[in-house]
Amino acid sequence: MTEPVRGAQGCTGDHGHARLQPPSVHADRLALLGRCMAMVVHDAVQPVASVVTRGQSALRWLRHDPPDVEAAIASLERLVADAQRAGTLLADLRALASPVERPLQPVPLHAVLRDTLHWLDDDLRREGIHVAANVGHDDVVVIAEPAALQQLFGNLIVNAMEAMAETPIQDRRLTVDQWVDGDDAVVAISDRGCGIAADDLPRLFDAFHTTKDEGLGVGLAICHRIVTDHGGSIRAQSCREGGACFEIRLPRQDQKTVSRAAAR
Ligand code: ADP
Repeated sequence: MTEPVRGAQGCTGDHGHARLQPPSVHADRLALLGRCMAMVVHDAVQPVASVVTRGQSALRWLRHDPPDVEAAIASLERLVADAQRAGTLLADLRALASPVERPLQPVPLHAVLRDTLHWLDDDLRREGIHVAANVGHDDVVVIAEPAALQQLFGNLIVNAMEAMAETPIQDRRLTVDQWVDGDDAVVAISDRGCGIAADDLPRLFDAFHTTKDEGLGVGLAICHRIVTDHGGSIRAQSCREGGACFEIRLPRQDQKTVSRAAAR
C-alpha cells in the first residue's frame, strides 16, 4: 500500500460516457434524485426478478419424479443471495436517508470478516477472483452493530469486485488483512482493479459521487457513516502496483471489558 498514485485512472464503468457531475442548484438536485430513483428501481428489479425465476426452478426440481433435492437446494441458495442483494440495496438507501440507532455489542472482527467473505463467496468465485484473507484471531474485538459491519465490508468487497471487471482473470486478487495498531483494530481491503484517479480521492466518500454509468454513489458514503458512527476512520489509496486499498480503523475493545461483558 502506498501514497495515491498520479497515474491511476479510476473506474469509469461507462466506457467513455459523461460522468455524473455534483449538483449545484436545487433543480440539479431534483434531477439527480429522479435519476437515483430510476437507478434504485433498476438495481432492485433485477434481483427480485431473479428471486422469482430461482423459486420457480426450485419448485420444478422438487416436483420432479423423483425430486432432485440437490438441484432445488442450489436454486434456493442462489435465491437467498439475490434476496440479500436486494435487501442490502434497500438497507443502504434507508441508512443514508435515516440512520437508525441500533444496539452495540462486542464483535470479534475476524468472524464478521469471514461471514462477509462467505456471503460473497459465490460472486467472488464466479468472477474468478483469488481471495487472500489474513484476518487474525478471535481476540480482536470491537464494539459494534454486527450487521452494520457486514454492510461496511460487503460494500467494499463488492466495489473491489466491480473495479476488477477489466482486470485479466489471472491477476484478479482481493486481499483482506486485519491487524492491531495500538488501541485500533485495522482492516485493509485491497484489489488489483482500476485504482482511484487522484482527482476523485477528495470526494470519494461524498454521497452520490460515482464514476460508474450505472452507479448510485451511496456505498462509500454509507461506509464512511458506519465507520464514524463506530468511532473509527476510513481512508482510500491507490496502490503503486495497481488497484485500490481501503483502510478501516476501529477502536479496539479492551479485553477486560470483554470478559466482564461475557460473564454477565
Ligand atoms: P458506486 O459503486 O455506486 O459508484 P460507491 O459510493 O460505492 O458508489 O463508490 C463511489 C466511487 O468510488 C465509484 O464510482 C468508484 O469510482 C470509486 N471506487 C469505489 N471503490 C473502488 C475500488 N475498489 N477501486 C476503484 N474505485 C473505487
